Amino acid sequence: MTRTARITEEDKCPRKWCQEAGEHEVHRHYLTSFMTADGRAIGVNVVQSGERPRAVELTMLSRQDPGETVVFQAADAELISKGMRAAVRIARR
Ligand SMILES: [Zn+2]
Repeated sequence: MTRTARITEEDKCPRKWCQEAGEHEVHRHYLTSFMTADGRAIGVNVVQSGERPRAVELTMLSRQDPGETVVFQAADAELISKGMRAAVRIARR
């Protein structure tokens, strides 16, 4: 038997940008996910733990291991983004 949980108004986080429901310590907004060439799923999220500034989180999941989460401050995520764009330009030449 499958059960579908419904998110009620009480379950919603008071931070309007957060998509987590119910009790949670880390506020999270899910932006995108994609598969890597070696079969890992990578998710990109905005996160905030407590009153700390929002940060960018990468979650890396695979079928073989429990996965890994890396959190970057926004400025560092911007540098990674610039590096990725430069690498893509070179890779496409
Ligand atoms: Zn939240």
